[in-house]
Amino acid sequence: MKAAVYLGGPQNIAVQDIPVPKTGKGEALLKIGACNICGVDLRTYKHGDAKIQPPRVLGHELSGTVVELEHGEAGVKVGDRIIMYVVIPCGTCVYCKKGRANLCETRSTMAYQHDGAFAEYMRVPKQALDNRQLIRIPEHISFEEAALSEPLGCVLNAHGRLNIGIKDTVVVIGAGPIGLLHGVVSKIEGANHVCLMDVSQKRLELAEQFGFHSYVPVSEQGNHIKTAQTLNDGLGPDVVIVACAAAQAQVDALEMAGKMARIEFFGGLPKSNPYANLNTNLIHYRELVLTGSFSSKIDDFTAALRLIVSGTLPSSKIITHRVALKDFLEAFEHIQSGRAIKVSIQPE
Ligand SMILES: [Zn+2]
Ligand SMILES: [Zn+2]
Repeated sequence: MKAAVYLGGPQNIAVQDIPVPKTGKGEALLKIGACNICGVDLRTYKHGDAKIQPPRVLGHELSGTVVELEHGEAGVKVGDRIIMYVVIPCGTCVYCKKGRANLCETRSTMAYQHDGAFAEYMRVPKQALDNRQLIRIPEHISFEEAALSEPLGCVLNAHGRLNIGIKDTVVVIGAGPIGLLHGVVSKIEGANHVCLMDVSQKRLELAEQFGFHSYVPVSEQGNHIKTAQTLNDGLGPDVVIVACAAAQAQVDALEMAGKMARIEFFGGLPKSNPYANLNTNLIHYRELVLTGSFSSKIDDFTAALRLIVSGTLPSSKIITHRVALKDFLEAFEHIQSGRAIKVSIQPE
């Protein structure tokens, strides 16, 4: 079968012919329907990822059909169209017991410790089936739309702590797919005003179709901070979400936040320099609440699917490009051109 394989180090992903994975007792085989490109995949392509042992098939925003199943209690059957919650928790550590599988001490993840879904077929480990991590999807939902449950689940995990409601003015910094999902979810939650910011005018224009209340370019002179402070009758935003991997955006988020604002650092910074020069006095004097989030819990993942199935999420606007698996590397060209929002890889 064809698969996009990470071979270690920067710029080192290749489409190769590899054997269809063999499944053992308690495992399943999926025929991949679609696997969408994540920002993490682009980062791995550009810089490599020391956490991934090559060779490794990448791809974790996946959907497909169960074609082999040697497990009696997985909650799905052969022929079912499914999505998969890709974090495989141990189920017994203190975080798992608190329902926080994303923070599990010994979790493994598809496309990290197990081969992922930029391939025609993918093996599902027994532990994931024991945990019932394959979730059936309705017939009317396309594979590519269903696969949005993964990034959307991560966004919902963050929103679980932000408590956005009808009185809130929300600023999202970063107009990539994750930033757009944060903006859309804030609107669904009833936010009074959603303002989207980005350094790229092209990306802001692409985002206009989502109907946010305002679009503000990020400038080196800091005009976007002044603009944010005029929102909410001059009180500044109630919520600021940093949906990009830039230390300056984290600094700006604190500067623009209104008193008692909630601030979410959604993305991590590069591991080579994860420090930001934050004015922590702002946290003190304005009584800011600063939080982060990582990955998702399975209930976020299933909630995300419900938003897609009900049509609440405008999923067809988010997936802008489709690329055949054999042309995998073209996906990164689309993303880097600034014209794509989400690119879906399709095996056939
Ligand atoms: Zn992802
Ligand atoms: Zn655990």
